[in-house]
Amino acid sequence: MDGTTIAALATAPAPAGVAVVRVSGPRTRTALKALFQGKRDPLRHPRTLVFGDILDFKSSNSIDRGLVVFMPGPSSFTGEDVAEFQFHGSPVLVQRVLRSLYAYGITPAPAGEFSKRAFLNGKMDLAQAEAIADVVNAKSEEQLRFAEEQLQGRLSHSIQLIGEPLRDALAELEASIDFPEEDIQPDKLGAIAARAQIAQVKVAQLIATYSFGSLVKEGVRVLICGRPNAGKSSLLNLLVGKQKAIVSEISGTTRDLIEEESALAGHKFVFCDSAGIRETTDVVERLGIELAKERIPWADLVLLIVDATDTSEDWRETLSLLSAGRRKVWAIVNKIDLKPEALGQFSCDFALCEQSFYISAKTGAGIGPLLEALVEDLAKGMPERGEVGEVITNERHRDCLQRADQALSSFIDLTKQAPLSILATDIREALVALDEIVGRTYTEDILGRIFSKFCVGK
Ligand code: GDP
Repeated sequence: MDGTTIAALATAPAPAGVAVVRVSGPRTRTALKALFQGKRDPLRHPRTLVFGDILDFKSSNSIDRGLVVFMPGPSSFTGEDVAEFQFHGSPVLVQRVLRSLYAYGITPAPAGEFSKRAFLNGKMDLAQAEAIADVVNAKSEEQLRFAEEQLQGRLSHSIQLIGEPLRDALAELEASIDFPEEDIQPDKLGAIAARAQIAQVKVAQLIATYSFGSLVKEGVRVLICGRPNAGKSSLLNLLVGKQKAIVSEISGTTRDLIEEESALAGHKFVFCDSAGIRETTDVVERLGIELAKERIPWADLVLLIVDATDTSEDWRETLSLLSAGRRKVWAIVNKIDLKPEALGQFSCDFALCEQSFYISAKTGAGIGPLLEALVEDLAKGMPERGEVGEVITNERHRDCLQRADQALSSFIDLTKQAPLSILATDIREALVALDEIVGRTYTEDILGRIFSKFCVGK
């Protein structure tokens, strides 16, 4: 910490009922005296909302009437003295309040600075601080649940449980290195190796949850493709439950890919509507198709829309292209309202096309089973949570765990042959990697990378 006092808008930067400006640092108390005038003194009534005038520092005129709350450190979010100003949520008023605070000598808070101070003051560990951003940005119930668990320290607790026996093991190894005359007993070394093995199993279990965790965080990526007019946009609108402006095809322009996030039964999905993926001579369509082809590797699942009224069977060409890319494909036979006799008539090799559905994107018929299948398919990828208890959703945590895993593997492989100093190095490396997850060890660079991704005011 550099001793500065920081301020930033803590609510979203848009017109709203209320705006909250947050201040943290040693000058918070004097700033409240200088910039707030109420019937009661907020410094004498900590953690209580006090009504009054928020003042302009230069003119002493009232900017707005509102509420302030003072939270003395160390029992505050950042661990420092904190104040929050609540007033009418006008962006112009926000600018005036911030200008007044800056004129008083308070500094604009960089992104994530409040959370960073909370971490540096020991109010929470690094994994918990990261969880704040995940809670704020959660797009689905499930993502929110994992983020909240992490915020409450569930992951941190697991990391601690994995690390403790390793810390003991390291202490024993180091003691033996310091007193080489006392040879380490083979059974003692065996016991240390057993502890490392248990730790490695737990680390590996956590790593295994990441494939599911990243799906939860990033969303299941679903690419919708098919011929022009097959009903891709109509299906996208149904899936995301709102009318999304569809990019019109103006001759000579590329058709863009449209991406929409949606939560289905509490799970996050990202749907992408593409131009049809097939060979064409039309220049405009071809540009769109190239874009769509680039998207194939992005997708976890491809929905191939087949127009029930279209007898051309062009979709087979698209399907072979998709299966060459080893994508999971579901066929969606659309416009079944126009051709009910097509029901059940779609035939495709199961190896190429895992499931097929009959729908009408116009009437909504058949959409229910498709939505259920999407959610069910996601749930199938869910790991056994019983063993591990939590799910890794953060790439940085996964990377740290992989480093710990490698160091522990090396330790286990070498236990019988390597000198104790090398064995100790492996355990130390595993511990450093685990400690980095919770910020027990960190560098400015790591903190910079984590907190710069936060919003200002968090
Ligand atoms: P895209 O080019 O594949 O995105 O197709 P659109 O979603 O724009 O649909 C093309 C046309 O087919 C539009 O006029 C839609 O209203 C119509 N359409 C889409 N789905 C259905 C359906 O299930 N039944 C009927 N009758 N019309 C549909």
